[in-house]
Amino acid sequence: MRIDLVTLFPDFFTTPLESGLLGKALEKNIATVNLVNPRDFATDKHRKVDDEPYGGGVGMVMKPEPIFAAVESLPVLARREVIYLTPQGERMNQSLFKELANNYDQLVLICGHYEGVDERVMNLVTREISLGDFVLTGGEIPALALINGVVRLLPGTVGKVASLMAESFEVVNGLGLLDYPHYTRPPEFRGWKVPDVLLSGNHGAIAQWRSQQQLERTQQRRPDLLSPGMTNTNPPKVSTQNDDPT
Ligand code: SAM
Repeated sequence: MRIDLVTLFPDFFTTPLESGLLGKALEKNIATVNLVNPRDFATDKHRKVDDEPYGGGVGMVMKPEPIFAAVESLPVLARREVIYLTPQGERMNQSLFKELANNYDQLVLICGHYEGVDERVMNLVTREISLGDFVLTGGEIPALALINGVVRLLPGTVGKVASLMAESFEVVNGLGLLDYPHYTRPPEFRGWKVPDVLLSGNHGAIAQWRSQQQLERTQQRRPDLLSPGMTNTNPPKVSTQNDDPT
């Protein structure tokens, strides 16, 4: 998968893209990340990428020309999604990450700043995606969360496929439950003991205990996940403004 990050702050990504499983996956070319800065495409002498909003009001707005030029400088692969990270988009979740991991060769991620981007940029965008119902200063953290979640699902990133299947939100029998609790050595730490069943060697009993824990945790913490058909769903895809200006 090719990922193109359209960002005014490419340095932001240096360490996160080199660290942990994501760093290893990029090293193995399971995905490639290309950084493109709209400022490099600004044509005036101050390389201006933002301007005051028409109609007045606070804050600045990202100008459309440098963003169009940055996106249009990129190669176009067959199955491509151009994503604007925005609090107004469909919310990220595991099923969205799966959909992106399974169906696309190229993700172009546009990170906004200030009050956001000029609305005409939506003519480039095929999808708007949000990290959650809150407002951050820029699209870089949401873009990074998306890259991490999607690349993690690409074949080869996580060594054992089984460990992808045993995670919160993995849908089994129509329900995406929360994960069960995990323990490792020592068997007792500061008086807290590992549950006996996990030390018993009885795989049937362990599986049953884990399923029970998953159900109880989900009931306590996320009862919404227990309604069949409601698991990991998103509101309908946001329709973007891909109309022809002519
Ligand atoms: N005026 C915008 C609004 O109220 O919808 C918010 C602009 S925000 C200060 C600046 C940029 O941060 C946005 O253009 C977007 O790219 C990014 N951003 C902020 N919060 C986000 C979120 N929850 N999900 C995705 N992107 C977000």
